[in-house]
Amino acid sequence: MAEILPGVHQVEGVDPSPDFSTHVYLVKDKGSSWTLIDTGLPGTHTATLAYLAKIKVEPTAIKRILLTHLHRDHTGSLRALAERTRARTFAHWVEAAYIANAPKYDGPGTPPAEAFTVDETLKDGDAVDAAGGLIAYHTPGHTPGHTAYYQAERKLLFSGDLFFGNAERAVLTPPEYTHHTPTAQISARRMSQLSIDSLLTYHGGPLLKNGGGAVRSLVQSFPAT
Ligand SMILES: [Zn+2]
Repeated sequence: MAEILPGVHQVEGVDPSPDFSTHVYLVKDKGSSWTLIDTGLPGTHTATLAYLAKIKVEPTAIKRILLTHLHRDHTGSLRALAERTRARTFAHWVEAAYIANAPKYDGPGTPPAEAFTVDETLKDGDAVDAAGGLIAYHTPGHTPGHTAYYQAERKLLFSGDLFFGNAERAVLTPPEYTHHTPTAQISARRMSQLSIDSLLTYHGGPLLKNGGGAVRSLVQSFPAT
């Protein structure tokens, strides 16, 4: 069982290969419902559903699916999981347009496998009633509407592909997969001002302790502004 923190699960079986980890997070809400953060590559919904069965959570107990960004490894199983769970789906308003293929995304990294229209669009600073209360932070750079989700009470940051866990360090996702790295650096500087215990990255990591220190070390390595 991959409950990495109380009420925070890293869904097992969604990694495409041993050296390419993708961390779909399943988070318990206050009460009996659950939230999914990102959805994995196309076809991995079967692994997520199997994991839910293993921990005895009904698919319909997932009430919300939050997306960090458009890339296929995050949105690939969105339609299948939205259909099976009947959850409401959320993304930043910029990213929501790309996820709907309107316009089609032509930047680095893989575009969505299929167009999907989310139920609710978010803007920077919005509160999301999920996982005990999240704040959506627009953190552009990796993609134009990239969003990280912060749980202030528990000091958790679900950082999508803004950060990449590398052992005990946080690095930016490599430039070849990133729309505009200097913008990602600005987003990283902003996130370094949060109080973060656990940095819940999508690839590599996660850094369960001292995530904030890792982020501050990273931003100190950026060129001076
Ligand atoms: Zn990405």
